[in-house]
Amino acid sequence: MVIDERSAAPRRTVAAQVGRRPGEGIGGTLALTGAALLATAILVTATVFSFTALAGGTGADLGGADTGPNCLTMPGSPDALRAGLSVEQASNAAIIVTAGQRMRVPSSGWVIAIATGLRASGLINRTAAAEDGTLGLFDQRPAQGWGTVDEIADPPHAAGAFYEALLRIDGWQAMAVAEASRTVRQSAGTDERFVAQARSMVAAFTGGNAGNDPACGQVTISATGWTRPVPGEVISGFRTRELPKHQGIDFAAARYTIIRAASAGTVVTAVCNIAGRFYPVAHTPSPCDTDGSPDIGGCGWYLEIQHSGDIVSRYCHLVRAPEVAIGQTVSAGQPIGLAGTSGHSSATHLHFEIHKGYPAEPHNATEPTAFLADQGVVLDH
Ligand SMILES: [Zn+2]
Repeated sequence: MVIDERSAAPRRTVAAQVGRRPGEGIGGTLALTGAALLATAILVTATVFSFTALAGGTGADLGGADTGPNCLTMPGSPDALRAGLSVEQASNAAIIVTAGQRMRVPSSGWVIAIATGLRASGLINRTAAAEDGTLGLFDQRPAQGWGTVDEIADPPHAAGAFYEALLRIDGWQAMAVAEASRTVRQSAGTDERFVAQARSMVAAFTGGNAGNDPACGQVTISATGWTRPVPGEVISGFRTRELPKHQGIDFAAARYTIIRAASAGTVVTAVCNIAGRFYPVAHTPSPCDTDGSPDIGGCGWYLEIQHSGDIVSRYCHLVRAPEVAIGQTVSAGQPIGLAGTSGHSSATHLHFEIHKGYPAEPHNATEPTAFLADQGVVLDH
């Protein structure tokens, strides 16, 4: 099924584009044409769960008018996380959040862990022990049972050990953040300055509540913190004989299917790309707000997320501007946009790329199915 011959490979992010205000662009034209409804019906079995979830359990209105504020909320401050934080700090915050998601720790626990890490290490991982024997993100000591030096120096392990200790504390959810932090560390915990910063960072990760809200559907996160972006099957492969420049894979996805972040990271691109040009989100009306065709080039409405290790994921052909903005941090499985057919596309689907390197270029694209399998996420073909 030829859906997408090539996607745009922008050489760099449109840095000037900052993103729209919360709520802007939500609730635009949602009426489906007869043809689109037919296409939706064909694919609806694969996505009925997500539609049920997004319609608040009623399963009504496939047009997606009830995408619901709970599932696609934007944080009030898109730059809450990156403001004043280095890439390393943001990356370590993402690791702490991912570990919390994987262990099903409520987001209030993420606040405790990040606030503790901010005070202990400034979220800069220390791989060698200090004079007092502490190292890692949380100033943990091997002698206190946090693990070996190598384990503590490994941020996912350090975060996991922190959460294990937190979950052992009776009534931790009723404690003040600083008190819970102190109890876990059995020494100095954190203070209000870091608690406030940690709260705004976690809010940036969750978009207020998305990702944790049962109404938005349950998402399975792998042990390494990855998940599939949409529930549909893969209908077109990576660099096939027919499409050697196809730098990603295509998922079957009905219009308005919720697209989720494949892993935690920072949004680095959110833009309209059509016929060789880029239009920022603020450019209205946008040429990407109408369905594309195989005769024009471009990713249409698309976004990119930079993950730890400089892995980049790319999501193309959205029905409207992404629900997240450049600079915003997202958690694995967080809703980031809605599927469509903008740009170089003949039918509604999700074009998905993985790049090993930042910025994403054609030469560093890798086969997403194998990449995700290595992360414990198995796709259907
Ligand atoms: Zn494609």
